[in-house]
Amino acid sequence: MGKPIVIALDGTSASGKSTNAKLIAKALDYAYVDTGAMYRSLAWHCLKKGVKLENVKAIASLCRRWKTELRNDDGDIHLYVNGYFPEKEIRTAETSAAVPSVAAVPAVRKWMKAKQRECVQFGNLVMEGRDIGSNIFPETDFKFYLEAALDVRTKRRAADGVDENLAERDKRDSQRAAAPLMIPLGARVINNSKMTAEETSTLIINEVRERLEEAE
Ligand code: C5P
Repeated sequence: MGKPIVIALDGTSASGKSTNAKLIAKALDYAYVDTGAMYRSLAWHCLKKGVKLENVKAIASLCRRWKTELRNDDGDIHLYVNGYFPEKEIRTAETSAAVPSVAAVPAVRKWMKAKQRECVQFGNLVMEGRDIGSNIFPETDFKFYLEAALDVRTKRRAADGVDENLAERDKRDSQRAAAPLMIPLGARVINNSKMTAEETSTLIINEVRERLEEAE
């Protein structure tokens, strides 16, 4: 068996990364990794432990010490914290607002990079995030960057029952010094403002299949 294939799916908040990543993973029978969930879990853990979000040293120290484990739950790779996956807790408005502070800490990004690269132990992957093609798996040949107009993205989040300042979160993610959100070199950029998830994922699945056939 060759090296596992990694499809890197990056993009702004609510650009459709999760929906598409799940559809692609299902169609190709790859494991799915939501790296945002990992950062969210650390933010949730910091809030629970009373760590102040301005305290970079305390965040880095907690990240070095927390007890985690990667598990494959039916093709979804989850990071368990003390044996628990905080699925609901990481989606609250409080956690969402806290994540960019945690995600900007260089020691955290270093820890996450190592952990995310460990995911190839589960085989071929669709990994979604902000720096997958640029920083976590820069060597992959399969890089896609999703974007959509702000009003479209805001409506998508509202349809999920979430009222959030997406522009503010994108700004903080794009302007941080450590591994900022950017279009990775060699990525195919897809603006899906006027596309359904079905259309977007089909485009990506077909391109991946074509390129894999060519490589055979
Ligand atoms: O994708 P999601 O909205 O769940 O990501 C939550 C936050 O986690 C992002 O706004 C960003 O601050 C951080 N993140 C990141 N790098 C990633 C994935 C997420 O900095 N690869």
